[in-house]
Amino acid sequence: MPTPPIPYGRQHITDDDIRAVTETLRSDYLTQGPKVAEFEQAFAEYIGVRYAVAVSNGTAALHLAALALGVQPGQRVITTPITFAASANCVRYCGGEVYFADIDPATALIDLAAVRRLLEAHPKGHFHGLIPVDFAGLAVNLEQARQLCDEFGLWLLEDAAHSPGGFFVDSQGREQRCGNGQFADLAIFSFHPVKHIAMGEGGLITTNDKALYDQLLLLRTHGITKDADLLEQNDGGWYYEMQTLGFNYRLPDMLATLGLSQLHRADAGLARRRALAAQYDAAFSQTAGVQTVAPGRTGHAYHLYIIEVEDRKGLYDYLRERQIFAQVHYIPVHLMPYYRALGWQPGDFPHAEAYYAHCLSLPMFPTLTDEQQQYVIDCVRTFVAG
Ligand SMILES: *Cc1c(COP(=O)(O)O)cnc(C)c1O
Repeated sequence: MPTPPIPYGRQHITDDDIRAVTETLRSDYLTQGPKVAEFEQAFAEYIGVRYAVAVSNGTAALHLAALALGVQPGQRVITTPITFAASANCVRYCGGEVYFADIDPATALIDLAAVRRLLEAHPKGHFHGLIPVDFAGLAVNLEQARQLCDEFGLWLLEDAAHSPGGFFVDSQGREQRCGNGQFADLAIFSFHPVKHIAMGEGGLITTNDKALYDQLLLLRTHGITKDADLLEQNDGGWYYEMQTLGFNYRLPDMLATLGLSQLHRADAGLARRRALAAQYDAAFSQTAGVQTVAPGRTGHAYHLYIIEVEDRKGLYDYLRERQIFAQVHYIPVHLMPYYRALGWQPGDFPHAEAYYAHCLSLPMFPTLTDEQQQYVIDCVRTFVAG
């Protein structure tokens, strides 16, 4: 039997990563410096997008994205109930109203047909934006989302926190990487320890839009610029202007170095995640009582590997007793007390609520061994065989 405990997700930090961070600690820069720029460029190349803006975490990335897209009090934005709360909260930070569209039970992604029904039920101009989430690492079809947004005049912000390296295949047969800015106005990533790249805290926004990029740079650092081309006047070498109300959402150079070091093995990590998923798929396709969510999808980045079982609480507790720390992703956002207080209630999104009643995320991370995975599979099978 492998050595427990086995978490659902875990960072992979190598001696090379530690050496790289140590070198940065001896450099002239601790907060945002040359390593941030290097990381931004390398990440943009990895994704295939023009601009990348690294920030202090994924939630800050969402906040700045919502600000750059112009969310204002009273504006209405649609997202999915099956996501981390931050996907919705960024709209609230700007005073906007959050609306939800139910998920497609086959994928647990936002159902674009449900989004369309919501849009068609109101006059044009009623809604301002759409925030789809590449949930668990499965890419939303952003080509279709874009068409819908264009038809109804919405901006499109992709929450790609789960999906670096993921892609969908567009109507021309081309692979479209998550966050590549071909369809969405902006996309965000997170470098929280359970995500593909683990900085501790870290986030990033990608775009192909130069005006949005410039706005994000301003917002990241207090709304301050020293760019001579942008200044309204210039009193001398010391002079800078605060041109808009921004924040300190900078990423430290130490953490950018940690991300850069991990980015070199991103493809290997992704390949391992996909191999583990194929092994889970194969095992559970033979197991009565275990449903897998969207098995065998090309382009899946497998941040999470999710099954659905009848007695989810029973399985969760059974695995815990065996030191396997499975997790639930997610409690529907509209059922959080904060959102209930805004008027949402049980029954509003039946597919999301049915999914939540049965879902469980099994261990999925590149350093999970075959032996550990087999132990997880054996425990799940023993439990459902009852
Ligand atoms: C992790 C996550 C975020 C927020 O990222 P942080 O870096 O933790 O702030 C946003 N959206 C989704 C879907 C996430 O999983």
